[in-house]
Amino acid sequence: MMENKEEQYQKLGISPEVLRLGEASEKRVKKQFAKVEEIAEYNQLKVIYAMQKNRISDIHFANVSGYGYTDLGRDAIEAVFAEIFQGEAALVRPQIMSGTHALALAILGNLKSGDELLSVFGKPYDTLDEMLGIRGNCAGSFLDFHLSYKQVDLLEDNSIDFDGIEAAIGEKTKLVLLQRSAGYSSRGAFSIEILEKVISVIKQKKQDVICLVDNCYGEFVEEKEPLEVGADLIAGSLIKNAGGGLVQSGGYVIGKENLVNHAAYRLNAPGLGREIGANFGMNLSLLQGIFFAPIVVACAVKTAIFAADIYEHMGYEVKPSSTQKRSDIVQGIVLGSEKKVLSFCEGIQSAAAVDSFVKPEAESMLGYDSSVIMAAGAFVQGASIELSADAPMKEPYIVYLQGALTWYHGKLGVLKSVENILNV
Ligand SMILES: *Cc1c(COP(=O)(O)O)cnc(C)c1O
Repeated sequence: MMENKEEQYQKLGISPEVLRLGEASEKRVKKQFAKVEEIAEYNQLKVIYAMQKNRISDIHFANVSGYGYTDLGRDAIEAVFAEIFQGEAALVRPQIMSGTHALALAILGNLKSGDELLSVFGKPYDTLDEMLGIRGNCAGSFLDFHLSYKQVDLLEDNSIDFDGIEAAIGEKTKLVLLQRSAGYSSRGAFSIEILEKVISVIKQKKQDVICLVDNCYGEFVEEKEPLEVGADLIAGSLIKNAGGGLVQSGGYVIGKENLVNHAAYRLNAPGLGREIGANFGMNLSLLQGIFFAPIVVACAVKTAIFAADIYEHMGYEVKPSSTQKRSDIVQGIVLGSEKKVLSFCEGIQSAAAVDSFVKPEAESMLGYDSSVIMAAGAFVQGASIELSADAPMKEPYIVYLQGALTWYHGKLGVLKSVENILNV
């Protein structure tokens, strides 16, 4: 049996030597994996409970077209998401095109001329720059609508500036943005426990400020979600964690009912909120996706822990470490050279089930000051809950790895990257 497995790995380009490195790593991370399984089990039950409570049935899988007034599945899906994430209401739609779009709806729907948004963990995710007016002068941005943007940077050791946050909340502060995931920065994700502390400091200073958590990459990594610890609103993408790898497009905004309605007015039209919008036959995959999501997220987290451990043992700096508590699915590995980044990404790409024969190349990209390389062989274009890696081609040559729909695929991808790195 063992020999057969080794042969199978060899056919996929993994040498017996690298396979053994992987086996040693798997032994070392047993405890962390057990914890991940525990969280997955808890979250799976949470999802099943939400589906039972909302009496999900095959009537909800029906394809509805046109205005969608009678899309029962859409309404049931939103009730299921609201229950899972503990919000009063949810907007879960294929018409929300990305995580950025979901965040834009939550933000622009809830601000009025003169209001200020405060980001408390430094600069938010790059794709929000134009809306916030940090970069460029785009029509419809904060500049156009007389909204202001302020940020409190993290302290030098990447810890949270609690005093700075308290001082920054003022008369005009209407909405505070908290990004759970590190995204592509070296700061590390902030756990639910930390979010709870920060939100309580914010609310003590100003009770009625809206706390919006950018929940992208964070869903189901822990047992609790941000709305359970005081957040008012969360937003995220369905081609990341919450879609379970099955959803082809979509995003969500969940939280206080009036705030979600405002986001829906933004998506649709003022006065026409959540009651309209057909899901075009996507209800089945939305429900199957959220059903599988806890398990898929567990596979992604295992892949990240495994990568952290194996690269730590090869002498590389990794963020987070293999034993650190996690609140997102992203793994940073400091490779230190352009050649190694290239080999790593080629390894991830060549391990894919889709587009394994493609060679990723570094390319200059809008909004980045260096060229960027991305490796992804995905069923759904750009779905970063699937095994993928990307890196800006600049010092310190750090590659960000995320996803894997199954643990075995994640393991193969990491082993393939190791095989490549050892042969640089
Ligand atoms: C991915 C991501 C976004 C943006 O989502 P897109 O779907 O890429 O637009 C925002 N914030 C964080 C933390 C993310 O990981």
